[in-house]
Amino acid sequence: MQNVIIIGSGCAGLTAAIYAARANLKPMVIDGHEPGGQLTITTMVENYPGFPDGIMGPDLIENMRKQAQRFGATFRAGVVTGVDLAKRPFRVEMGTESFECQALIVAAGASARLLGLENERKLMGHGVTTCATCDGYFYRGKEVAVVGGGDTALEEAMFLTKFATKVTVVHRRNEFRASKIMLDRAHANEKIKFLTPYVVTDVLDCTKNSVESLRLRETNNGKTMDLPVHGVFVAIGHEPNTKVFRGKLEMDAAGYLVAKGGAKSSVKGVFVAGDVQDHVYRQAVTAAGSGCMAAIEAERFLEAEEHAH
Ligand code: NAP
Repeated sequence: MQNVIIIGSGCAGLTAAIYAARANLKPMVIDGHEPGGQLTITTMVENYPGFPDGIMGPDLIENMRKQAQRFGATFRAGVVTGVDLAKRPFRVEMGTESFECQALIVAAGASARLLGLENERKLMGHGVTTCATCDGYFYRGKEVAVVGGGDTALEEAMFLTKFATKVTVVHRRNEFRASKIMLDRAHANEKIKFLTPYVVTDVLDCTKNSVESLRLRETNNGKTMDLPVHGVFVAIGHEPNTKVFRGKLEMDAAGYLVAKGGAKSSVKGVFVAGDVQDHVYRQAVTAAGSGCMAAIEAERFLEAEEHAH
């Protein structure tokens, strides 16, 4: 039986772990399918307060993890496959293993959205990727495409021009969701070309187990064309990791958990933090802040229970 289980080991989960551990709750953190979260797939973080020269994302996360361990947090590798939140103690399942806890903090984050094409899935890691900072280096001297019209797509495109000879941004509309400053910067970069309004209908060539081209359809006239590229960076947003909480915790139409009064979920004793409940700010510092809030709420909840008995 655990006092507190924290689901997720990104910025939010680790900050919750630091606070819960310092409150002597000996939290157990379940790493999840992307240990360390989104910061582990970034390079320099320049807007996290306290680091005037910036800090590498993976280093920031490693520091937080050590900080949590120093105060007694423990970590389990694995992915949560089921939860029972109908009564306390809550039950958290990880495959065949099952754990009980008095309070639960959900900081499971959000993962990159995919186009949903069969060949996109098959060629993942063989030319299809969702992270320019992780994989851009492999495309030195090559031509690549970025799919999406938001800030992420343009940020990825600009980053990729450090390596690729040409970066084509493929977007399904002529209007961009990205901020004007990002759009202006991307337009000013001569390695970046824009192709709109096009949707990606296929990724080729599975028989070679590598990306050779993208099949595109122009949305206003239905015409198709093949764009030769060696890599495709899918940058079309994120999906919250909330599948196991469906029907158990209140979520919005997009599947993000609903936080009430700060970090409280719809179930007493279950708290939420980080990108799993935030599709607006999504910053390392806001995730950390909400992790702190969730831990303080969990601590108060457990303390109130203790007094009641
Ligand atoms: P986003 O703003 O939601 O944009 C997602 C883009 O992908 C949209 O252009 C959307 O097209 C497109 N898209 C979605 N599903 C698609 C599909 N199935 N097929 C083709 N295209 C699809 O997501 P984001 O760019 O990841 O940004 C998320 C948040 O982080 C935003 O608030 C953004 O400002 C912020 N951010 C900021 C920075 C920065 O300031 N440096 C950097 C990165 C992210 P439609 O437009 O047609 O819907």
